[in-house]
Amino acid sequence: MMTRTEVSGTEELLLGRNPRAAAAYAAAAEAGRAAIIALYERYDEATDDTTLERVDTELESIIARTLAEYGRTASGLFSAEDLALWTAKISLVSGSYVARAAAIGIPGALLLLDSMEDAELDADGDGAFVSLDDTLTNGAEYCQCGYASTRAVPAELCFLCSEAVLGEWKAEERRLLARAPGADADLAVVLDELLSELANLYLNGVDKATVASTIRKAGNAGIARVNEARASEIALLDRARWDELAGLNGLSGIEAIRAHRKHVVRWGLGSARATSLALRNEPDLEKRMRLIAGARPAPKSNFFGRLFGRR
Ligand SMILES: [Zn+2]
Repeated sequence: MMTRTEVSGTEELLLGRNPRAAAAYAAAAEAGRAAIIALYERYDEATDDTTLERVDTELESIIARTLAEYGRTASGLFSAEDLALWTAKISLVSGSYVARAAAIGIPGALLLLDSMEDAELDADGDGAFVSLDDTLTNGAEYCQCGYASTRAVPAELCFLCSEAVLGEWKAEERRLLARAPGADADLAVVLDELLSELANLYLNGVDKATVASTIRKAGNAGIARVNEARASEIALLDRARWDELAGLNGLSGIEAIRAHRKHVVRWGLGSARATSLALRNEPDLEKRMRLIAGARPAPKSNFFGRLFGRR
């Protein structure tokens, strides 16, 4: 089945080998982003419905203008083969969001639409992970489990706290590995293999149990082995906070994330990163999926093609 991920990956591939189109894309994305950030700055304090509606209307016109501008500047920059590959793929994905990009008729339109969505989230202050304390304090009113406001550890963390704890655990792991270059390099190999393996599984529509067992195998074989081989280097690190966060993460309200709770302390460093790959929307995982699926050839796109191609 054709997905948005595959179309985005194809656009990245085509832009990657077409510097002139890539420059047109970058210019459009930058202008769109700047306009969106300026819009949100202008209406920073707005809360009333009329003003918020106006923000939506203006946002809509920025998006339309940016897409049209890209369509104009990148028109004629792609070869007939590249255009045919992109058209064959994007025409198989349903939904008004993708249809809007398809209507521009130029590869890169879907990535551009995504980039404006990102700009809107950034401008709206929905930024990157800061720290566990900040996230919990900012999100306390949405917390369902009490941990964010009281720091009393519940039987199971709510979704907000689960995400915050996982983010902090990963950040702590990165801090530790930055001081253990040997382990870091060895783990990068193991985790990169896991990333490709999971990306292929997700692209083929795999079930949760297979994802869990793939992560389990990487933990038991790869991650644990690196931690043993690099034990002397890792022994110099203070793992107390990492262990504490691993324990808290074991109370995650996200089933796929707490699935490995009995194993992670034994596996050691790298577990936080491996665990987070159980989430299909993990950014590096999505990136790898785009890379793999984007390079696939054009599918047979019409009914007769499919009918006779099957004989
Ligand atoms: Zn909570």
